[in-house]
Amino acid sequence: MLVSAKEMLQKAKAGKYAVGQFNINNLEWTKAILLTAQEMNSPVILGVSEGAGKYMAGYTTIVGMVNGMLKELNITVPVALHLDHGSYEGCLKCIEAGFSSVMFDGSHYPIDENVAKTTELVKICNEKGMSLEAEVGSIGGEEDGVVGAGECADPDECKAIADLGVTMLAAGIGNIHGKYPANWAGLSFETLAAVQEKTGEMPLVLHGGTGIPEDTIKKAISLGVAKINVNTECQLSFADATRKYIEAGKDLEGKGFDPRKLLAPGFEAIKATVKEKMELFGSVNKAC
Ligand SMILES: [Zn+2]
Repeated sequence: MLVSAKEMLQKAKAGKYAVGQFNINNLEWTKAILLTAQEMNSPVILGVSEGAGKYMAGYTTIVGMVNGMLKELNITVPVALHLDHGSYEGCLKCIEAGFSSVMFDGSHYPIDENVAKTTELVKICNEKGMSLEAEVGSIGGEEDGVVGAGECADPDECKAIADLGVTMLAAGIGNIHGKYPANWAGLSFETLAAVQEKTGEMPLVLHGGTGIPEDTIKKAISLGVAKINVNTECQLSFADATRKYIEAGKDLEGKGFDPRKLLAPGFEAIKATVKEKMELFGSVNKAC
């Protein structure tokens, strides 16, 4: 059964580790992430962007697929199904469809409007026992066509949103979605520490986890980050493994063109990436 991300993230914050949010794109992605979480005995959050939601034929299709896998694959670790960077309307659709967690990305609204819409969603999510992530300060890079500049959040605005009763808070601290440019300035630990100081127990979320150096990730966790989003890294490892298979001509040998064979190296590559991240984030054996 899907669970809210609340309990797993409160435990992570208290235990000084982070739970990974791995974004899904199709059946192979979902299965690879769920099986790895079970093998690692780690809690996990499956992220779905609105674009990926459309791609996978809608939110109810995704809920059906994920719930089916939890049962058929005997997944017993805590799993949350979470809308990533949702619009207000997207959040309502996912709540209706059976997601267990949503993110409302109101970072592009003036703070008053972000507060008003977040307040509405806090009420609905509380009634349904769901977790809600809010964002303050836009996170740079491009995600589903939404481009931001990688700004740093105002710690007072973070406190204002945290006090509304959200479950977890994404604060821009110089992080960027996608691959980091060579001239990236790095994370602003100063901002992170100031946000943590103002928001106390609130689990903080680090978006754009791909390509952030390991020691930086560890320091961010020590400063209150309890959820780290990984998306691009699984895409890169899947593409790399699939390219190697085709370049080696394996799709031309025997039944190598069978999608179950063609997609197998990419599937294994996602599993390896997820395992590596769970070890880095410290969530291994934290499932209960
Ligand atoms: Zn993000």
